[in-house]
Amino acid sequence: MDGLLERTVSFAYDYKVTCRSCTGTSPLASSDYHHEINEAHMDCAHCGADVHFGPAVFALRDAEDPALDDQWVGRAAWYHTSTDGDWPYGTHTMPTETKSPIARLLSPDGLKRARERYENQALHLGTYEAAIESMLRRMHNQADGGSQFYIYRVRLREGLSVEAGWRDENHAEAAQITQQELGAVEAIRYLNVHESPGSISLAVRRGAIDATQRVALPVAAPGQSTRDLLTEVALLRAQIDEMEVHRPAALDLIDQLGAEGAARRGTAFVRSPSPEQYALLDGIDALLEDRLLPDASCPVKSAFTRALGAWRHAQYPYVDDAAYIQRFAALAATVHDPDAILRALVSKPIQELRPWQP
Ligand SMILES: [Zn+2]
Repeated sequence: MDGLLERTVSFAYDYKVTCRSCTGTSPLASSDYHHEINEAHMDCAHCGADVHFGPAVFALRDAEDPALDDQWVGRAAWYHTSTDGDWPYGTHTMPTETKSPIARLLSPDGLKRARERYENQALHLGTYEAAIESMLRRMHNQADGGSQFYIYRVRLREGLSVEAGWRDENHAEAAQITQQELGAVEAIRYLNVHESPGSISLAVRRGAIDATQRVALPVAAPGQSTRDLLTEVALLRAQIDEMEVHRPAALDLIDQLGAEGAARRGTAFVRSPSPEQYALLDGIDALLEDRLLPDASCPVKSAFTRALGAWRHAQYPYVDDAAYIQRFAALAATVHDPDAILRALVSKPIQELRPWQP
């Protein structure tokens, strides 16, 4: 898939937000958004009105976004992450068993309509950043912490018909749109307000996809050694352990309840960390973020650490710091070294799509 247009990847972007009084947009620094300065309020740069910022008012980040050009859309590389190694074939098949929780809630007709809607969802493509952030969100929010993810590089069919303009995900149906609802067009543009907020994503018919390339994440890269980092983390861990030795024996109420519950279940009781221990644990997160995601914005760093926490939680029975740091470093390459991922992708075989029968 040589010749597809690529754009520069960056996870250090800031935001733009829309003012509801004058409809103008104002810049918002990613760190201010992350820390919710002034309880998430700011003044509009145009009329001075108060703007309560959040996903509901995210605006297009780049008024000159090349994705606004129909020709560019058809000639660019688009991205998608999935736990499905056979995407876009295996996606959106609803379980057929009649005893599933959803089947018990719905009449047979209702179930049929729900299945049709579910299985005919449009496919979503976005920027590289949006695809990676989608994976991080799913790892943390959708119980996919331990799942194998794949990233797909997508070529669209030549002469694709694209809906004019773009829809605002805050105001128009986009995320849940079905293939039929795309109407006469094969793709619509929408403002993504959840992943790489303020970027343009696409909802497309399956037939709009011409070919894909795929790699499993993390890509095994000859990344930097994590030995020094492990030594620093071990020092913090030793301080946390030392505090544990000197903690008062008396449990607080929450730990008392936890201890009683563990005794009833016959499982080991682990005391929750003290505020001082929590501060050191946060220090471990900050250390890994600063070393392994040096250029990413605060919201991306935070999303990444939450995702890796979900990965750690999903491992059985236990992951030590060395294995955790190695996993963190390997997956961090998706953020701090996207060129390595793109090189891996373009070296993969091209999967031309078979005609798809709904
Ligand atoms: Zn305003």
